[in-house]
Amino acid sequence: QVTDTRAREGPISPSYDWFQTDSLITIIIYTKQKDMNLDSVIVDYQDDSFRAETIIQDYSYLIHMELFREIQEDFSVRVVANVGKIEIVLKKKEHTSWKCLGRALENHNSFTPRKDTGTEIVKPYTPVSHSLLFKLMEPVLPNDKYIYFLIKIYPAGLFTPELDHLQIGDFVSVSSPEGNFKISQFQELEDLFLLAAGTGFTPMVKILNYALTNIPSLRKVKLMFFNKTEDDIIWRSQLENLAFKDKRCEVEFVLSAPTSGWNGKQGHISPALLSEFLKRSSDKSKVLICICGPTPFTEQGIRLLHDLNFSKDEIHSFTA
Ligand code: FAD
Ligand code: NAD
Repeated sequence: QVTDTRAREGPISPSYDWFQTDSLITIIIYTKQKDMNLDSVIVDYQDDSFRAETIIQDYSYLIHMELFREIQEDFSVRVVANVGKIEIVLKKKEHTSWKCLGRALENHNSFTPRKDTGTEIVKPYTPVSHSLLFKLMEPVLPNDKYIYFLIKIYPAGLFTPELDHLQIGDFVSVSSPEGNFKISQFQELEDLFLLAAGTGFTPMVKILNYALTNIPSLRKVKLMFFNKTEDDIIWRSQLENLAFKDKRCEVEFVLSAPTSGWNGKQGHISPALLSEFLKRSSDKSKVLICICGPTPFTEQGIRLLHDLNFSKDEIHSFTA
């Protein structure tokens, strides 16, 4: 029986060769594909390990070696697109002849579907509490043993579909927390305004919980929450409940793509929406405005807040 393995198993595997001069090592990857470009090649040299990954469709071709001798840190990569040839030119540290290119390391000269290559993807996420005002409720699980996240899955995204397919027992690595929000920003605070868009709501969860339970001076907390549709509003009923139970709390939803039945506020962040929303409880009240969402939302918001004469110290933006 004859089967067309190429059609079933994807593109043909590339191969490589190398040559040297006194000062240079040139590695040539024959991709056997036309229209390759520089974006398809990732070259990395660290701790004696040389790695060149070439992405071809959904596959990855790897050169992974401990080189015969040391090289300098700057190397060049050239793609001859019409013949699909990639040339990586390395500079020798010492002008001596190399007996071989080096020693093969893990997965050297392999051509594998990209999902199996173990590429590391790193994305930031903001821990939340398991619910709003958890202190007033019976925790579902002991809080000191769990980290809660609220993560939106983007079907075309790089990382979140992977996260969505994790099974119990799978591992993800989590780094230590980073950020520049200081609790001291809450000192003597009277009015707290939160401007959140989409998952930009996540940093607001702990801020809300902390502010409502720990700041005696607090008079008002107002959240303006921007989303595309009603279905996108995270924790809507919890937020409405909180506003109902705590007189200091107000919540306003703004939709940018509402259905015809929506009676609430509409549109994107704007001077009109903000100037109406950001009313101080008194002329000289101490104010903090926190803003988080898609970058254009946050940038535009900060500009508008400056136009409304809020100072830098009165604004905290959550950015990458
Ligand atoms: P990506 O691959 O980044 O794609 C996201 C979306 O953009 C997809 O729909 C994709 O199709 C589209 N896209 C990608 N590239 C392009 C392009 N070039 N042109 C047009 N569209 C494109 N997210 C949360 O859900 N919860 C959190 O708590 C959270 N906290 C964050 C904290 C910080 C400090 C920052 C900076 C971000 C946070 N995020 C959070 C966002 C998160 O880090 C990821 O960006 C998000 O999960 C998307 O990752 P992804 O790899 O799945 O999608
Ligand atoms: P989304 O696409 O569903 O949009 C939500 C709302 O944001 C829209 O309804 C609109 O009002 C506003 N918006 C979107 N694009 C805008 C633009 N170009 N100009 C003005 N307003 C705009 O949002 P999403 O998919 O939930 O994305 C949330 C974003 O928040 C992501 O980019 C994520 O990285 C970011 N985020 C950042 C942090 C942080 O700490 N820095 C934390 C969580 C989320």
